[in-house]
Amino acid sequence: MTILDGKKLSHKIRENVKLEVQKLQKNNITPGLAVILVGSDPASAAYVNMKSKACKEAGIYSMVHEMPESISQENILEIIEMMNNNSNIDGILVQLPLPKHVDTTAILEAINPNKDVDGFHPYNVGRVVAGLDGFIPATPYGVMKLLEEYDINPKGKNVCIVGASNIVGKPMATLMLNANATVEICHIFTDDLKKHTLNADIICVGVGIVNLIKDDMVKDDVIIIDIGINRLESGKLTGDVDFNAVSQKCSYITPVPGGVGPMTIAMLLENTVTSAKNRPIVKG
Ligand code: NAD
Repeated sequence: MTILDGKKLSHKIRENVKLEVQKLQKNNITPGLAVILVGSDPASAAYVNMKSKACKEAGIYSMVHEMPESISQENILEIIEMMNNNSNIDGILVQLPLPKHVDTTAILEAINPNKDVDGFHPYNVGRVVAGLDGFIPATPYGVMKLLEEYDINPKGKNVCIVGASNIVGKPMATLMLNANATVEICHIFTDDLKKHTLNADIICVGVGIVNLIKDDMVKDDVIIIDIGINRLESGKLTGDVDFNAVSQKCSYITPVPGGVGPMTIAMLLENTVTSAKNRPIVKG
């Protein structure tokens, strides 16, 4: 069994991002990322903090707009409009989830698709589904990079995606389909999850339930991508897979932490640099 080491690969990608930033800076461009954080959810604040730190290390300028839970949708839209018009900002990221009174779709659709480094705008979603260039959501993008690093080609493989959210499961399924895998997508209403997972050569699970995938649900030599992040009462992080038992049967597995999580941050930085490289040239 081989551990798919996301920490190691993310380090390599982040070093490369740093070099790309240095090249851009020679042309007087410093990539910029604006992050919008609404409310005081500690997990969201921690993610934003990690992203800002990673930007700083890579030489990317980051600007965090912290807003109270009670902020109106109009005020958030105003900030997005400002960031859309700020030529020093290449990426705009809205930390999800947003408070219930805010229409998440309206917010995501307000972001200029050319600055949508999270890849959640329907424009980018559509382009990626059509197999065209577009911002790819960082988490599934990171998974594909990790597979590539270990020479795992999903072409012709049976891939079972467990979890069908817009930010994890659906784009994961799209990328696997684009890579010519045969894809099944399971979710909360799937009857008999085990029937589907047992048939899979690759399982990508992103649900948020500890030990959802057990060893009797997978076939020998399966490849396991655990996207879930759950915090145990002890404070320890764990994924959605019963790692100790499943790792006895699989050929490859991502650990949590140290698997997909670090890749997500690395791909966000890469998307931001890609956006900076495509900055419109201002004449005058
Ligand atoms: P979500 O709540 O939006 O979606 C969860 C999905 O799981 C839904 O499609 C739901 O139908 C499905 N589901 C729920 N119960 C199920 C069950 N019993 N069987 C099968 N499917 C079930 O969550 P999300 O934002 O997609 O996040 C999912 C997990 O991935 C969370 O643990 C989150 O922390 C993690 N996550 C990790 C990263 C990373 O970088 N590694 C990034 C984003 C999210």
